[in-house]
Amino acid sequence: MIGTILAGAASDTGLVREQNEDALLVSAAVFAVADGMGGYAAGEVASSIVIAGLEGLGDRDQLTADDLRAELASANDHILADGRRHPERAGMGTTVTGIAFVLAAGSPHWAVFNIGDSQVYRFWRDELTQLTVDHSEVAELVAAGMLTPDEARVHPRRNVVTRALGMSPPPELDMWLLPPTPGERFLICSDGLPLELVHDEIADVLRSEETPQGAADELVRFAVNAGGGDNVTVVVVDYMPEMDGEVDGATQPRVRSVEGQ
Ligand code: MG
Repeated sequence: MIGTILAGAASDTGLVREQNEDALLVSAAVFAVADGMGGYAAGEVASSIVIAGLEGLGDRDQLTADDLRAELASANDHILADGRRHPERAGMGTTVTGIAFVLAAGSPHWAVFNIGDSQVYRFWRDELTQLTVDHSEVAELVAAGMLTPDEARVHPRRNVVTRALGMSPPPELDMWLLPPTPGERFLICSDGLPLELVHDEIADVLRSEETPQGAADELVRFAVNAGGGDNVTVVVVDYMPEMDGEVDGATQPRVRSVEGQ
């Protein structure tokens, strides 16, 4: 079935960083967060390159997972090429993660995609589950049993990612296809959110805030008040049953309400 998508978004520089190198996208079919890295504001360039590319995809009627893969491969090339033209930006990179409404085997699916340590969660039946796997040194150490998740959150090397756009050879993309389920809520965030809020605190906000915009605003406010140690960016997406009288035969769900930045 085709449902209705409601989305909200918020972003803040935080209290420690001078610039916000995160970028976000809320479009008709693609919802994403990118967390740029590199000196001289180059991180901001890298994250905006991938978000601009994904924004172009959002206007398509029948997006496929291959379109998404091709766009992310192209963003990797663009970031490397920009770094060659502007040597002061060499070595810049960005994470990218999000969800896209795609056609797979003739039916709509969510494609959850990830490169790096930004994250996608699904809140469903009162439970919050991380869908993406972090590509970071500390995540590898946790998986190997050498660190606990609590140790990883405050580890000095917690910012070291093992995959990012801007790498040569290109990083491998993680992608999962999920059937859309009305009533589900997705959270897409940069690592500035889990840096400040534990899992249960994030779930509490998603449970208590009725609108996606309310949840996004509250999560960012909470993270900044808790210390704001990094840029923090949040996109919240609700997938809801189609409202009566609004079925028009379109193959893509429409975004009914997009607020925030
Ligand atoms: Mg970050």
